[in-house]
Amino acid sequence: MAKIRLTILGSSAGMPQADRVNAGLALSVDKRLLLLDCGGGVSAAFRRYWFDPLAVERVIITHTHPDHISDLPLFVQMLYLAERREPFGIHLPSEALSYIQDYFQALYLLREKLPFEVEFLPIPKETDIRADGIIIHPIPNTHLHGYRSLIEEYRLPNKMQCYSLLISVDNKTMLYSADLGSEKDVLPYLKNLDLLVIESTHIGVGRLFQAVVENNVRRVVLTHLTETYDGEAALAAARKAGLDNVTLAADGMRIDI
Ligand SMILES: [Zn+2]
Repeated sequence: MAKIRLTILGSSAGMPQADRVNAGLALSVDKRLLLLDCGGGVSAAFRRYWFDPLAVERVIITHTHPDHISDLPLFVQMLYLAERREPFGIHLPSEALSYIQDYFQALYLLREKLPFEVEFLPIPKETDIRADGIIIHPIPNTHLHGYRSLIEEYRLPNKMQCYSLLISVDNKTMLYSADLGSEKDVLPYLKNLDLLVIESTHIGVGRLFQAVVENNVRRVVLTHLTETYDGEAALAAARKAGLDNVTLAADGMRIDI
């Protein structure tokens, strides 16, 4: 059985906070290491919790809001300064691929200069991301759909791509919601999850907790927390639903699955 551990690098919602950094998760499977999202402060948090810049093999960016991507160039600079030579994969919503590649060139993270290959890869629509035994199934969600009228009015190229990630390793499954339009985006995917890491900003916890009970989810971590989030009320709602497996995320929290 693989040793699977998820570490919360950042648990803050969009507003930067004094004691939380923005969205980022480190997924360790035995000696393998993947990063999920790379918001503000995630590179420093990666070092704070003693992760190895040479060991991380890829990052998956769920959507391009700054609190999920803004530290990405700094993260790659860290890999460069750590004298990395192995390729590094960056999975992005396809709508952003060329913009982010141009941004890296503008920041002098030149593909012609870096001594390792940065592979810019679209998050696949029909298939999974596979890293040996780790299977990551991207689930499109409605988080960015509120931009539709603006995009249509100004004929912008944005495609409103945001993904939740359903991850399987051996016989374990976890879901990282990233940001959502509402809890409805992920309700069909909760069956028998070992772990649900779900954002707290855009959901109703009552409906969610009911679904957690119905789907036999083993553990729930509420993340993407604002400074004013009423965590006690959320935990009280969990207890009322008969759940004792719901916790609030904190930076540095480690969860073994
Ligand atoms: Zn966010």
